[in-house]
Amino acid sequence: MVNTEKIKDMCDWERKKAIFLLSEAEKLGMNTASYGDLAVNSTSGYTYLWLEDYNFSLYMPINCDLIKTDIFALWNCSECGNEEETQLTNEDNLKDIENRIEEIEKEHNEDAHNKEE
Ligand SMILES: [Zn+2]
Repeated sequence: MVNTEKIKDMCDWERKKAIFLLSEAEKLGMNTASYGDLAVNSTSGYTYLWLEDYNFSLYMPINCDLIKTDIFALWNCSECGNEEETQLTNEDNLKDIENRIEEIEKEHNEDAHNKEE
């Protein structure tokens, strides 16, 4: 199960976003029983959900509404630490998000690491 311990240290607005993220992840059919973290990034102030089964995390910025389209999927390059993101649409299912993250990863590997698949 994702670690939800940090919710108790969040402010009202961060907690609302954390619960919304977890609920939307469930709706998307993500495996929230897998190991992960529901927390606030201390640098950015963003509330995020990371699950080890996926190569992206979901986050909501400081100022946003509690709507699916204010959720971002963030990919992080394990080689150079570069971060790229895609904003969710109302129509997005998990496969759509995974496909876009795959494209982001592929493009980044070609551009930044001269890798062709
Ligand atoms: Zn990279």
